[in-house]
Amino acid sequence: MNQGSKSKVAFIGLGNMGAPMVGNLLKAGVTVNVFDLLPQLAEPLGKLGANVSLSLQEAVTDVDIVITMLPAGEHVRAVYLGDHNGGKGIINLVSEQTFLIDSSTIDPDSARLVASEAHKKGLEFVDAPVSGGVAGAKAGTLTFIVGGTESGFQMAESALCHMGKNIFHAGKAGDGQMAKICNNLLLGVVMSGTCEALSLGVDNGLNPEVLSNIMLQSSGRNWVLELYNPCPGVMEHAPASHQYAPGFMCKLMSKDLGLGLEVAANSQSSVPMGSLARNLYAFHNRNGNAELDFSSLFEYFSVSKRET
Ligand code: NAD
Repeated sequence: MNQGSKSKVAFIGLGNMGAPMVGNLLKAGVTVNVFDLLPQLAEPLGKLGANVSLSLQEAVTDVDIVITMLPAGEHVRAVYLGDHNGGKGIINLVSEQTFLIDSSTIDPDSARLVASEAHKKGLEFVDAPVSGGVAGAKAGTLTFIVGGTESGFQMAESALCHMGKNIFHAGKAGDGQMAKICNNLLLGVVMSGTCEALSLGVDNGLNPEVLSNIMLQSSGRNWVLELYNPCPGVMEHAPASHQYAPGFMCKLMSKDLGLGLEVAANSQSSVPMGSLARNLYAFHNRNGNAELDFSSLFEYFSVSKRET
C-alpha cells in the first residue's frame, strides 16, 4: 500500500471470498477492522488479529481504505448509500480522505451510481471485482479488474497488491464490472460445456481422470479443466471432491449470468451461449443446488442420464 503499513483498512463482507482476502491483509501486517451481518464469520478473523466491529459505522470510522465484498448490487447500494430503514451508508460515515473499493461482482449501473454519489462527497471510489475464486483469494493471487479514474486506479493498485497478482485498469467507473461480467459469462459457458463433455465421456465408459488429462493436452483445454474439475475424485482440491462445498455458489453464477443478459439487452447484443448457461443454472438451482459450488452443474448432466 502506498500509505504503507500505517494504512488502516475496513473490510465489509466476510464470506467465502472476503475472509481469505482479510487473511492476506493481516499476513502483510495491515491493520484491519472487519464487519459482516453474520458475526460468527468475524470471530476467526479476530483470532488472527483483525479488529472485530459490531456495526458498519464502527468498522469504517477512522480508516484510510474501505473494501467491500458483498453478494450483489442491492447489498452494495445499501452499504454505501444507506438502507431503507434509515441506516447510514459508508459515504456518510467516513472522512473525506477515505478511499473506497468495492470488489463484489455487481451490475455496472450500481457501481456508477455509487461512484458518482461518492464523488459528490469528495470521496474516491473504484469498482474492483475479482477473478480467481476462493483458491485465488486464499493464495493472494486474485486478478482485480478496476473501473475508475487513473488516480483511483493507482491508489487501488497499492491497496490491492497484498491480495492479488494481476491488477488491471479496465476503464472508467463501472468498466471493471463490465469486464468481470464478460469474463463470468464465458466461465459459465465453459463450465457448462466442460460438464457436458466429461459426462458424455463417462456415460460412454471413459475414466474421467484419463479423459480430463487428454482434453488438457488437446484443443478442449480450459481453466475449468486446469484448476476446477467438476467431476468428483478427479482433482483432490476442487469443490467436486468435497461434496461441492463452495467455492463459488450456483446462485452467484446465476446472478452473474443474469447480469450478462441484462447488459446484453441494453446493448442489443446477441448472447445465446450465456442465455443457455443461465437457463441450465436456473434449472439446477431450483433442484436445491443454489448454495452448492457452481461446478455441481456436473450433476445436472449425470442425474439427467440416470433418470432416462
Ligand atoms: P458470500 O455470500 O460467501 O459472502 C458475502 C458476505 O456478505 C456474506 O457473509 C454476507 O453475510 C455479507 N453481507 C451481506 N450484506 C451485508 C451487509 N449489509 N453488511 C455486512 N455484510 C453483509 O459470497 P462470496 O462468495 O464471498 O462472494 C462475494 C462477491 O464476490 C459476490 O459478488 C461474488 O459474485 C463475487 N465473487 C465470488 C467468487 C467466489 O469464488 N466465491 C469469485 C469471484 C467473485
